Amino acid sequence: FASRGSGRPRHFTPELDRLAHEEATVGAELRTALRDGQFRLVFQPIVELPHGRVVAVETLVRWEHPRLGTVSPAVFIPIAERNGLIVELGAWILREACREMVADPHSPERISVNVSPRQLAHPDLVRTIADTLTEFGLPAERLTIEVTETAVFDGGPAIEALHQLRALGIRIALDDFGTGHSSLTLLRTVPAQVLKVDKSFVDEITVGGQSAVIAGGLIEIANGLGMTAVAEGVETAGQAEVLYQLGYRLAQGYYFGRPAGTMPRTPTAALRP
Ligand code: C2E
Ligand code: CA
Ligand code: CA
Ligand code: CA
Repeated sequence: FASRGSGRPRHFTPELDRLAHEEATVGAELRTALRDGQFRLVFQPIVELPHGRVVAVETLVRWEHPRLGTVSPAVFIPIAERNGLIVELGAWILREACREMVADPHSPERISVNVSPRQLAHPDLVRTIADTLTEFGLPAERLTIEVTETAVFDGGPAIEALHQLRALGIRIALDDFGTGHSSLTLLRTVPAQVLKVDKSFVDEITVGGQSAVIAGGLIEIANGLGMTAVAEGVETAGQAEVLYQLGYRLAQGYYFGRPAGTMPRTPTAALRP
């Protein structure tokens, strides 16, 4: 490649050309998908330790592609982010999430919705969210917005939007916490009440060593700052046990429930002491 700012044109390899073409194709398909109703939402429980009572759900989007089947959001969200469709798609996700929350009389106390960097930077975000809550009569206190470090990295408008959301009563969660470049710095600038401790710290927590030390440090930091910590990606009883010993009282992961099309309920067995 010619380096950026070298003044020479960039030399696209055939491979890069192909990828750019694919991205444009998928980007166009995403628009059609939104219009044709190919997206659906799934919900994953966030539970209280040690009993497993469901206190919240996280909303995750799926794309039912007519030819490819289910496409992972890890694939299409970044593309929607780059082509701007995420603003419209994100608004749809929020509406549907609120609709399902109020439609189900047994829905949990709170619902989390992921908001991507481009959505957070959009000047209409706060109004869109406020209007949606009003439309469905969902109290702001029942909504949590999950943002990643990338979304708030640039500071300024994004942080201001978070302050406005918080003023409305909406909770802010820092997602994938600990995986970015300036996580600890952000704790002083981002008005978040929830720390979602990334799965990478949970994965090896039972084998001792660094992960357990870091996960233990993060819960101390969260508690010290008056924040709530949620451990992500809990897959085994052993991990849940160690997390509980470290002081975690909220967790999420396949061990407690996979994302599913219906709102999760607390299994009766999980409530027994
Ligand atoms: P995320 O926000 O960190 O969501 C958690 C991801 O971890 C989800 O993947 C979930 O299915 C997966 N997960 C949960 N528990 C476990 C576990 O125990 N083991 C393993 N291996 N995985 C677990 P998913 O649904 O594929 O979403 C991937 C990412 O795509 C999300 O990461 C989020 O960044 C993005 N995404 C998903 N839905 C939305 C959405 O509605 N809006 C936006 N902006 N982004 C979304
Ligand atoms: Ca999330
Ligand atoms: Ca996460
Ligand atoms: Ca993630």
